[in-house]
Amino acid sequence: MSPGAAAPLIAAPPYRERDQSGRVRSVSEVDGAAPLWFSVTQEHEDLLSPRADHVAVALLLPAMRYGRDLHVGGTVTDSLLHRLNHDLQSLVRAVHPEYRAIAVTADDALPAGPPPHGVVTGFSGGVDSLATLMEYSLAADVPAALRVTHLVNNNVGAHGDGGDALWATRWRALAPVAAELGLPFIRVDSNLDLHYPQMGFMETVTFRNAAAAHLLGGGMGRSYHASEGTYRNVRMPPPRGDIGLAGAMTFPLLSTPALILESTGSGRSRIERTLALVGMPYAQYLDVCVDADPRRATNCSRCWKCMRTMLTLDIAGELEEFVPAVFRREPYLERRSDYCVELLASDEPNDIELVEFGDAMGWHWGVSVRPRAAALRALRGGRAAAGTARRRLRARRWS
Ligand SMILES: [Zn+2]
Repeated sequence: MSPGAAAPLIAAPPYRERDQSGRVRSVSEVDGAAPLWFSVTQEHEDLLSPRADHVAVALLLPAMRYGRDLHVGGTVTDSLLHRLNHDLQSLVRAVHPEYRAIAVTADDALPAGPPPHGVVTGFSGGVDSLATLMEYSLAADVPAALRVTHLVNNNVGAHGDGGDALWATRWRALAPVAAELGLPFIRVDSNLDLHYPQMGFMETVTFRNAAAAHLLGGGMGRSYHASEGTYRNVRMPPPRGDIGLAGAMTFPLLSTPALILESTGSGRSRIERTLALVGMPYAQYLDVCVDADPRRATNCSRCWKCMRTMLTLDIAGELEEFVPAVFRREPYLERRSDYCVELLASDEPNDIELVEFGDAMGWHWGVSVRPRAAALRALRGGRAAAGTARRRLRARRWS
């Protein structure tokens, strides 16, 4: 270690234990921090990987963020270890320039074994995960090698302030879909979020979910991760942006010959995926809401995700089918005008696509919406220019 360099981050080989509720935990002691653990119910214990690939994937970003070399106890698949040292770090640093290049080592590096037959997909009840389900489970022409065999819902930090209670509520609400499809519905719990101090969820989402996929490497040979947009919108995010946008580029690098991680659904736009829910048998389970209140029984119908989905259906003349089972009309109508202003002022590709869809369908945005959007855009432009000027001034003072 060079003088002044941060101490390496060292994780011991994972071992298994049962927690108080009988769940099986894969635990790695981490030097100077809380142990990192993931858990599944006892019935899914056989899916747990005997390797430590999930630990390596889970801790790469925290190690880079804090400039610490990473040593992983146990066996890590050799090709993954290579990618974790090279291309994956280049990709991460293209999004997070302040993260540092580090060395990743393991007790043992071995070639991948034969791929297991399981095919798992994340299932949150959102538009994208339902689209993946339609494409790889409900469609009649899915080849056996690609057909979903398991659903999974991960607790890797996505549930914000709602925490474990919100996660449990969401999982219970979706369990009937898995039961009807006859698919096992795995719940991967973890304390992963604890190991990402001051690291935003969307800035790190790909690696959090990829770690959970590798945890299940004892039974899964393929893992689907619903993409956030269509191929036309696949791109590297801006610095410190949503790393999930680069999923199509990241997941192949996180794969091994025994476990293929795939970004799915980019063949269809967000609008096409939303409209595909019309008449879909499981559409009543749609949960797009970002409201973290675990007591909410349905989508709040006023957060930005609810608004985007409802407006898409509204423009297409299909909203009625989803009211009141999935959405409520009143909160939506109350906010619609303000939301349209934000939408027309946005540079986000999915927002631009929705505006184009509205225009193509002859949607009436409302007389005041366009001028208000233009004013908002000008205001944001002014703020951005002022921010740049302030940063330049500061840089001059320090140079
Ligand atoms: Zn909502």
